[in-house]
Amino acid sequence: MKILVPVKRVVDANVKIRVRPDGSGVELANVKMAMNPFDEIAVEEALRLKEAGKASEVVAVSIGPVKTDETIRTALAMGADRGIWVKTDEAGIEPLTVAKLLKKIVEAEGPGLVILGKQAIDDDCNQTGQMLAALLGWPQATFASKVEIGEKTIAVTREIDGGLQTLDLDLPAVLTTDLRLNEPRYASLPNIMKAKKKPIEEKPAAELGVDLAPRLQLLSTTEPAGRTAGIKVGSPAELVDHLKKAGVL
Ligand code: AMP
Repeated sequence: MKILVPVKRVVDANVKIRVRPDGSGVELANVKMAMNPFDEIAVEEALRLKEAGKASEVVAVSIGPVKTDETIRTALAMGADRGIWVKTDEAGIEPLTVAKLLKKIVEAEGPGLVILGKQAIDDDCNQTGQMLAALLGWPQATFASKVEIGEKTIAVTREIDGGLQTLDLDLPAVLTTDLRLNEPRYASLPNIMKAKKKPIEEKPAAELGVDLAPRLQLLSTTEPAGRTAGIKVGSPAELVDHLKKAGVL
């Protein structure tokens, strides 16, 4: 069975985000980029399934403009077998468009399982996996924290409010990863070197027969309001006084 893992290039989680002065979005120029952390978990899970003999091939796919191949290379250095780069002119393709493009890749590749991150940390949409499953008409299990694969089914434990839920899905299926599913490996230097020789197939998004026009219009992007300075109080009574004035008590 082949496993397809969509990986997104996002601003590195350790970078302090800056909004462009004209409010048209987040500053991406000269900013360190990395693979979306939930997608690293997805790659790791796919690799573990392959190492356990439950999968034959792990294919990483990413949709984006120049340098998106760096993110695919990271997946290849972790151990994925090959990559597919769906090339776009710009970053920030909407989840519905991403899901439609991924559907085309799924139709061409025929994987038994697609493992996505539960959300991309740049737009926090948490939509793509669900939309892809709906477009394909496949079962889906989101927020997976444990995966056990059988012959034709997969048991997935999901993190839900106040507990865990276990679902049994028929394959092929779509999964999205939660934080506790696994701890992704680091790519070793020899594997980084080996990854340079692994193939990445390039497919222009415009040639996949999907309408790439955005459905959403970004009106503005603003920094969160800065915190105002606090005050020091001299006694508990003074604190209670302030809290009463603020309407808290
Ligand atoms: P989102 O719905 O935007 O929060 O993204 C959820 C997941 O969809 C991500 O963790 C990725 O696995 C996948 N995904 C989203 N955008 C892309 C992209 N441009 N290329 C590849 N995978 C993507």
